[in-house]
Amino acid sequence: MVADTELLYAEAGARYPDWDTMIVLVNDETYGGSATGSISVISVYQGMPLVAQHEFGHAFGDLADEYSTPYPGYPACSDTGGTNPCEANVTNVSTRANIKWLPWIDPNTPIPTIPGSGYDNMVGLFQGARYLSTGMYRSGNECLMRYLGRPFCDVPTQAMVLRFYTGGWGGRLQTESPCLNPARNHRLEKFT
Ligand SMILES: [Zn+2]
Repeated sequence: MVADTELLYAEAGARYPDWDTMIVLVNDETYGGSATGSISVISVYQGMPLVAQHEFGHAFGDLADEYSTPYPGYPACSDTGGTNPCEANVTNVSTRANIKWLPWIDPNTPIPTIPGSGYDNMVGLFQGARYLSTGMYRSGNECLMRYLGRPFCDVPTQAMVLRFYTGGWGGRLQTESPCLNPARNHRLEKFT
C-alpha cells in the first residue's frame, strides 16, 4: 500500500509549509501499510491504529523493522563503518561495550540476550532484526517494530522522543542518555 509521495510532498509544502509528518488514510479495508520518507500510508482495516503506530515509527522515528524474516535486496546497514549506519533500534554490533544503547542495559543482562531467558521485558541485545535472523540485533524482544500491539520499548521510544526535541517541537535536550551509570535506575533518570 503506497502513495504518490512526490504529489504529497508538493501538496503539503504548498498547503501546510510547517508540516512535520504525514499519515495517509486509504479508504480501503485491505490490511496493509507502508512508510516512505516522512509519509505513513495505512488503510481503514479494523486493526489500523496499531499499523499506524508502527508506520509512524518508521516515518517519524526513523526506526527500522525488527522482523527476522528475509527481505531480499534490502540495503544493509552497519554501526561499525560505511555510509549507512543502522537505525536507532537495531545494530550489527554485538560487543557489549560498543552497543549504542549500552546505558539502557542492566549490568546483569546477558549479551546477546536469549528470548525466554528471563530478560524479555528488559533492554538487551536480541538477535534478529531488519529482515535478518543472524548478525543483526534489536534492543527489546517483542516491540512494536516487530509485533503489532506491543509497546515501542525503551530504546525506540527514546529515538522518538529525541526526534520530537530535535525536529522543531521545542528546545534541544541537554542530555541524550538515560544515565551514565547503568547501575542506576534508567527510568527515573531519563532526560533530566
Ligand atoms: Zn515496518
